[in-house]
Amino acid sequence: MLTVDELKELKDIVGAEWVKNDLPTRDAYSIYYNSSSLNKEDKLWTARPAAVIMPKTAKEISELTKFCNRRDFMLKPFSTGWITSSAPGSRKTMLLDLKRMDKIIDIDVKNQIAVVEPYVRAIDLQSELWKHGLNVHAVSCGGNHSILASTAAAWGYGITGASMGYQARNMLGVEWVMPSGEILTLGSPGDGAEWFSTDGPGPGVRGLIRGFQGTFGGLGTFTKVGVKLYRWDSDPEYEVHGGSPKYVLNRELPNLGVFILMFPTKEQITDAGYKLGEAECNYSDFRMPAFFIALGFTDNNLELKQLWSTGVFQKLARYVLTVCVHGHSKKEYEWKVKALKQIVKESGGLILPMQQIPLAAFELVKPFFKMFKNPLKLITKIPYIQEITDMMKTSEEMRLKLFTTAFFILVRHANNSQGGFRASSGMFTSVGAFDTWDMGFEQADYIAGVKRPAIEKGLILDDGGDLGSGGTFDFGHLGYIEGIGEYSTNDPESRKATKAIVEESLHGTIERSLGLPIAAFGGPMNQLFGPHCYNYHEMIMKIKEKLDPNSSYDSWTYSGASEKAFPDEKEGYTFF
Ligand SMILES: Cc1cc2nc3c(=O)[nH]c(=O)nc-3n(C[C@H](O)[C@H](O)[C@H](O)COP(=O)(O)OP(=O)(O)OC[C@H]3O[C@@H](n4cnc5c(N)ncnc54)[C@H](O)[C@@H]3O)c2cc1C
Repeated sequence: MLTVDELKELKDIVGAEWVKNDLPTRDAYSIYYNSSSLNKEDKLWTARPAAVIMPKTAKEISELTKFCNRRDFMLKPFSTGWITSSAPGSRKTMLLDLKRMDKIIDIDVKNQIAVVEPYVRAIDLQSELWKHGLNVHAVSCGGNHSILASTAAAWGYGITGASMGYQARNMLGVEWVMPSGEILTLGSPGDGAEWFSTDGPGPGVRGLIRGFQGTFGGLGTFTKVGVKLYRWDSDPEYEVHGGSPKYVLNRELPNLGVFILMFPTKEQITDAGYKLGEAECNYSDFRMPAFFIALGFTDNNLELKQLWSTGVFQKLARYVLTVCVHGHSKKEYEWKVKALKQIVKESGGLILPMQQIPLAAFELVKPFFKMFKNPLKLITKIPYIQEITDMMKTSEEMRLKLFTTAFFILVRHANNSQGGFRASSGMFTSVGAFDTWDMGFEQADYIAGVKRPAIEKGLILDDGGDLGSGGTFDFGHLGYIEGIGEYSTNDPESRKATKAIVEESLHGTIERSLGLPIAAFGGPMNQLFGPHCYNYHEMIMKIKEKLDPNSSYDSWTYSGASEKAFPDEKEGYTFF
């Protein structure tokens, strides 16, 4: 509990109206979209923060940090607070909600660099960038996420990774309020030069603050970041018709196409992924599991249920890659589309027409699909099947509707709002090591097997098991697939089953050498995975000890429970 004097000190730093320690505010910041997964007891509420502070400048954050060096409190910064790792790990934690730091500081059009503050969301920056013929990599939690957070603080996988890479590698300098309170600018801007590199001069220390997963708010606050931009050679804006939740583009955009590629086998989809990357055809791509495709083809859950129960999608759409092709000129676009078509042909796949197929048609073909284990294998053997498929035409509006769905997912990153949460109230994820594109599918197969018993018992949603979602990175040099599942947040049995699945998957990834999963962060997870990965957990603890000896930052999602935490807060955190 903050004393009157302590509260006054904080208010003097940021202004009275930006320090909140009333109960309703603190309670509002103690619940996150899946916070019951944070503890073994299935509690919905996280620790209630001691206060919520909304600073405006790095200088203020520096003063707040110095306050925590002197007192028995800690800070935990977040940019949007979308992900649960923004939650406080202790009742002694004061949350830094960085909403007021929302400026796009600079867009260097010539050198393709933007400098942003924490609360610049991907969708905000992208909308601005399109006016300049530029674009930014957005991670797959959606356009609502903070570009600074994905670049400097946490993960970085997203659909545009095919051409724009993993977000940590797009970082071009960062301003950092260190756990001591000192403000340090790393890389070229720290040396008075422009924002073009996070390293140098001298030895690079980027790995200290970013590495693979990030520091999740456990090692200071990042207040500015330089981010590498990519070309956008299409319209600067677009118009839509329709209404929430289904908007439809008035027309397609120039130099931009979306394609649904279907393959009969895993080998074919992986080979095609590598070839598309070699030809640099994929501006963005997404391995769309069958259930998500069915979701995209339907307008509501009733239609989805009817479509899914035909069983057609489970067989037809097992290995689907949705691809956005973008050309920097009309000529380049046409070449890329031609190359894509050739690659799909050589790989034995089929390009699905961009049209919504009526439910009745699925009912009609149901008996045929029931007869064969892999009907797509037979279909792709039919001579001129692609040409026949290409001739199928429906109304312009129907085509535009499907194009729009794909456009919002692959280009505008409206993925989680349209996909992840429509079919059930909750979504969990697992596996998700950043490795080869092939290895992504191994992880998807593995987790589908782990989920199956719970699906059969009706404890989690029947999504067919394989909800492996992800794509290629760096034009096929890397790949990423995470194992999603959907569950009911209202049902304790469903929550319990979900935890059991994720827990089993953690041990399974070690036994099967499936790499470091997305959940490999924070104390218990580091202890579990560190010994299998060069004891990285020991290095993280050493960094924390050296840079934050007074525990001024809450470290539960970074190095483990904080020194200052109460005894009951020191164990039990199991992040899924
Ligand atoms: C449904 C869902 C799906 C997701 N899918 C993906 C995905 O596909 N790929 C992916 O990479 N990530 C994913 N995430 C995770 C996460 O949201 C992203 O990594 C994102 O990059 C972080 O942006 P944010 O706005 O969510 O950050 P926030 O929620 O604000 O913060 C994320 C973490 O970074 C820390 N942090 C934020 N800002 C700062 C700062 N200024 N200084 C220091 N630390 C800070 C916070 O403490 C927190 O631990 C998903 C999250 C959700 C909820």
